[in-house]
Amino acid sequence: MSFQEIRNQGRAEPWWRTDKDMDMIDVRFQGQECQPLPLTALGNQAFRFRLHFPREYLAPVFGYPYQMIGYRVVGISGFTHLQTTCFHAIIIRMNTVKIYRLDNLSHAMFQRLKVAQMEAAQVWNLCMEAHKAARQEHVRWLGRNELQKATKGRFALHSQSVQMIVHAFLANVEITRQLKPSNHQMKYPWKTKRFFPVMWPAQAVSREHGRVVLPMGKGRKSLVLPLDLPEHSGACTLVWKNGFELHVCVEVPQAEDAPGDVHATVDLGEIHLAAVTTNTGKAMIVTGRGIRSLKRQRTMRLRTITKKQAHCKKYSRRWRKLQRAKNKVSHRSERRIRDMRHKATRQVTDFCVEHKVGSLFIGNPHGVRNRDNGRYHNQRMALWEYGKDIDYLTHKAKAARILSFTGSERGTSSQCPRCGHKHKPKGRVWRCKQCGFIGHRDLVGSINMHQLAYGSQVEFPRSFTYLRPGLSRSSRRADTPQRCL
Ligand SMILES: [Zn+2]
Repeated sequence: MSFQEIRNQGRAEPWWRTDKDMDMIDVRFQGQECQPLPLTALGNQAFRFRLHFPREYLAPVFGYPYQMIGYRVVGISGFTHLQTTCFHAIIIRMNTVKIYRLDNLSHAMFQRLKVAQMEAAQVWNLCMEAHKAARQEHVRWLGRNELQKATKGRFALHSQSVQMIVHAFLANVEITRQLKPSNHQMKYPWKTKRFFPVMWPAQAVSREHGRVVLPMGKGRKSLVLPLDLPEHSGACTLVWKNGFELHVCVEVPQAEDAPGDVHATVDLGEIHLAAVTTNTGKAMIVTGRGIRSLKRQRTMRLRTITKKQAHCKKYSRRWRKLQRAKNKVSHRSERRIRDMRHKATRQVTDFCVEHKVGSLFIGNPHGVRNRDNGRYHNQRMALWEYGKDIDYLTHKAKAARILSFTGSERGTSSQCPRCGHKHKPKGRVWRCKQCGFIGHRDLVGSINMHQLAYGSQVEFPRSFTYLRPGLSRSSRRADTPQRCL
């Protein structure tokens, strides 16, 4: 049912306004006072009933990067008036990107991939120049048809690859146009690129016995890569990320229905990556110490190499050799951290599915990082990538049909869950000076979020599960102390 239809039935005459920081929505029903609700209230059963939004209409539309309410698309903070129907959102299937590293390429193949990327950059440059000229002469900007006509048949790429670059360019222009009034640093594309990722839509890619064939246009040899892509793979993109990578769109099997209707909240942290509590008294903590130690290890190794590099002449043979070693260290640890992060967020989603969670609130620690807390603490905060945690969690929750939403978590970790006494804890244990409450610090934050997100106070859980993101590589020292709590 579209939003318009609901309106026509005269059941509700709502209007919306979102507050940037609070993620609040003002809703007014016909003949009633306006009432401000947190955006999260849309996941609330009673509210949904009043708007006559069946669950299956609402659940798939909450997701990165936009949330859809009725025919409107709502950004995480604020409103954009994209005209889309609700029906549209339902048929979007969920995709994820699988990354295949293209190591051990032959020299000829490497060169061909490089040339293809340089050709793609030429397409972008042509669009950019044409757009820039139109902008400077104050004439009408080129649209999709004009740009497609201008680029047709002129480049050594598959015609659809060229079209996709044009689309990417136009999307870039459109987003810039939307953001420009609120952000003056936004610039329309102006830079001449040397390389650009080459994209192939799903219908252009063909798979055969452990190989993938990427066409390069009529009369040119296709790129054949020895990759065994999964069954439901689609569009491919050739990306340079410290070596060539093929990013393949793969369809994700989505759960039929939400696991249940339990409410849960997640408190993200640096030491404890995620602390989850439900309103049924279940709790879990996933530690982030593994990721932190990987980051420290990386810093230390890079420092040793940089010290050695300082003694040699820049760009000398030895300097280059050390530079390669440095790249190797940082790329490897980047992959390991990513893997660890995926495992940690997977455990949170598994926990939610196991305990029949229907909606998940992810506290956004935004604001914690903006404070100046001295050199050491600031560096630690800068290394904490909670945005990624939120992204991964949102995506995984969506695949499990769990409604997830974020909002500010301000003040949740400094309040006693029993008596409301405010106090900033030191260390991992929360001790209340007023009522004598003792509990794990991150769980306190998570418990207090229930009040913020769902408007109901939840009992502090009696016990909790403590997990590591995955089997970390075993230490050479068998007796490594596991000081994790
Ligand atoms: Zn207390």
